[in-house]
Amino acid sequence: MNVENKTTTPKGDIEKVKCLIIGSGPAGYTAAIYAARANLSPVIIEGMQPGGQLTTTTEIDNFPGYPEGITGTEMMADLKKQAERFGTDCRWGLVTSVDFSSYPHKVVVDGNKTIEAESVILGTGATAKYLGLETETTYAGSGVSACATCDGFFYRGKDVAVVGGGDTAAEEATYLAGLCNKVYLIVRKPFLRASKAMQDRVNRTENIEVLYEHNTKEITGDGVVEGVTLIKRLGHDDEQEVKIKVDGFFLAIGHTPNSGFFKQFITTDANGYVITEPDSTRTNVPGVFACGDLKDSVYRQAVTSAGSGCMAAIDAEKFLAERE
Ligand code: NDP
Repeated sequence: MNVENKTTTPKGDIEKVKCLIIGSGPAGYTAAIYAARANLSPVIIEGMQPGGQLTTTTEIDNFPGYPEGITGTEMMADLKKQAERFGTDCRWGLVTSVDFSSYPHKVVVDGNKTIEAESVILGTGATAKYLGLETETTYAGSGVSACATCDGFFYRGKDVAVVGGGDTAAEEATYLAGLCNKVYLIVRKPFLRASKAMQDRVNRTENIEVLYEHNTKEITGDGVVEGVTLIKRLGHDDEQEVKIKVDGFFLAIGHTPNSGFFKQFITTDANGYVITEPDSTRTNVPGVFACGDLKDSVYRQAVTSAGSGCMAAIDAEKFLAERE
C-alpha cells in the first residue's frame, strides 16, 4: 500500500498537519502505523532517543510475534519501517514547547519551528530516575550509569553495583552478571519487588550478591568510580556503614514520565503521569491524546504501550471525523 503524505504546504513558517505524534517508542510508532493507515498523514517527532527506551535494552522475549526474541534496537527499527511503509513522516527533532490553549494546537520543534496540528498524540515515555546524590553527577560518565545494557560492556571482568529492587534492577543485574566478575544488587527493603521469575534468575546467578536493607550514602573514587559507601539497616534505630569496591554504579530505581513541557495544559497525577479518560487516550484537552509509559505507571510494557498507541490513533481519527 502506498500512501501519499498529505502534510499541508507550510504557510509562512507554520506547517499544518492533521496528526502530530510526539515520541518514538512502541506507543508513538504504533500510533503512527494506525494513523497513517487511516489517512491522517502523521508526522512523528522522534525526540532525543529515536526508538525510545527499548533501544537501550538487550533481548526482548515477551513481545508477541517474535518467538526467538529480538533486540530492542531491531524491534524499534522494524516498527519505524512499518510506520514509514504507510507514509509516516519520521523526523529527528525535539519538541521544546506547546500551546494547547487554542485550536489548532501549536507545537514548537527545536525552539524555532512551529507546527499547527489538528490532533496531537503524546507518547514521550519516561526517563530513568537518579538517587539525587551529588556524587552521581560528579561521576556521570565516569562509572555512574542508568543503563546497564548501554554501558555494561565497559565493565567486563570488573565488579559493579546496581541499585533497585524491581524488574529493571533484577534484569540489569543478571545482564551485568554475564559480563562482570561480581554484581552487588543494592536493595533498600528486606525483599525484592521484582516478579518471581526475575527474583529466581537473580538468586540462581552465582556472581550476584543481594545486599538487602542497604542504602547508598556516596560514591567514591579518584576521578572515576572506585567504590560505594552504603548504610546497612541493622534493626530499630541501628545502622552500619559498609564500603564496597566497584568500578561501575548502575541506577535502576524507576522512571519519571516526560510530561514537563506540556504540564501547563495537560492534567497529570502527582507523579507527572498523564491522566486520560477511562477506557480512552483522551486527555483534558480535546484533540490531544496520550499513550505509552507517559500515562501508564502500572503495566509499562512494550506491548501495552503499543496497544495504547493504537488506541490513541483510533481516538484521534474519531475526533477528526467528528469535527468534519
Ligand atoms: P519499579 O518502580 O518497579 O522499581 C523501582 C525499584 O527501585 C524498587 O525496588 C524501589 O524500592 C527502588 N527504589 C526507588 N527509589 C529508590 C531510592 N531512592 N533508593 C533505593 N531504591 C529505590 O521500577 P522498574 O523500573 O524496576 O520497573 C518499572 C515497571 O516496568 C514495572 O512494572 C516492571 O514490572 C516493568 N518491567 C518489566 C520488565 C519485563 O517484563 N521484562 C523489565 C523491566 C521492567 P522499593 O521496592 O523499596 O520501592
